[in-house]
Amino acid sequence: MNTAYDRQLAADLDALRAAGTYKHLRHLTGPMAAEVHMEEAGDVIVLSSNNYLGLADHPDVIAAGIDGLKKYGAGTASVRFICGTLDIHRELESTIASTFGFESALSYVSCWAANEGLLPTIATKGNTIISDELNHASIIDGCRLAGAKRARYKHGDMDDLERQLREAEGTPFIVTDGVFSMEGSLAKLPEIVELAEKYHAVTIVDDSHGTGVMGKSGRGTIEHFGLEGRVDILTGTLGKTLGGAAGGFVAGSHALIDTLVQRSRTQLFSNALPATVAASAKKALELLVAQPELLERQRENIRYFRGGLERLGFRPLAGPSAIVPIIVGDTAFAIAMSDRLLKEGVFVTGFGFPVVPEGTARIRVQISSSLSRADLDRALAAFERVGTELGVIGKPVSA
Ligand SMILES: *Cc1c(COP(=O)(O)O)cnc(C)c1O
Repeated sequence: MNTAYDRQLAADLDALRAAGTYKHLRHLTGPMAAEVHMEEAGDVIVLSSNNYLGLADHPDVIAAGIDGLKKYGAGTASVRFICGTLDIHRELESTIASTFGFESALSYVSCWAANEGLLPTIATKGNTIISDELNHASIIDGCRLAGAKRARYKHGDMDDLERQLREAEGTPFIVTDGVFSMEGSLAKLPEIVELAEKYHAVTIVDDSHGTGVMGKSGRGTIEHFGLEGRVDILTGTLGKTLGGAAGGFVAGSHALIDTLVQRSRTQLFSNALPATVAASAKKALELLVAQPELLERQRENIRYFRGGLERLGFRPLAGPSAIVPIIVGDTAFAIAMSDRLLKEGVFVTGFGFPVVPEGTARIRVQISSSLSRADLDRALAAFERVGTELGVIGKPVSA
């Protein structure tokens, strides 16, 4: 054992503790839900989960997972092209393709693996990949692995994007998050699609936070903007709204998906999604269609909670998604505020530098359909107490 190296790691961790940015894992003793039991804090209301439609502990999702495990066992103990693909993978993938309006789809063990499998496979030498500067880490790393020329445009800056398109070599690929997870804002997809059509670019949207949430029927940011058929490639996660376990996907044309089956490294050299997860995610997709009331309730919850925060004197960032960020400034302050809220029975995370720019640390609230009116009222009361104590809110404005 190299103890000198271990001491070096320990010193780095001490520096994180001293800066107030050390992350403590919280241990839950049951399923993700509106309220969870946390070993460190007792029963708390959850405002920090991506379980937007409450499907993580939905009885039908659990039952489908159990059935999947019984029927298929744990998995094929190999990668798909060597030992076979289960029919439940094919069923999941055709459900993904038809739900989101693409010819075909391919599942991966995570959206991270999907992005990292997709981007280097298509953005090859002689071409150009152009990425929004605030894209998710998995897109950034996927671009790093690509042989194509790499370019970045300023967040949401369409003039900058057009400049990069003019200078692109070969086929330009534009890649963007659908919903930006720290802001709750949307990509300017109508403009992006127009620019892509003008410059013959291929558009890739990772809609991990929009899938199941945005658009009239929860089909995501593409539906929100009415751009069905005009985005080339969609990636997304099954680990947020769609059951919350794990898994990701790429959806696109038959030729694209077949190319990924042949060449995508995280597909060729890594195991398939576990059968139990394929089955539970497929059920989650079916529930998205069969129970539109989940989405309605979630939207009502977002309106109610935003309105409540504003009446208390908070000024959350505006936006149409389920992400409601409250900017508080300093990183250590955001973490201290989330610790205080946890003591008041509300689990919500503070994010600071380097995840968000210096000086814009924030409390990020995420709203689920599973929260009851009583949960939301209790959470608002906690925000009022902590906000007043820490001087984040002044005198409440009248209702
Ligand atoms: C959460 C997220 C991912 C990662 O998804 P996993 O399935 O957990 O790997 C990728 N992209 C975006 C935009 C995300 O928000």
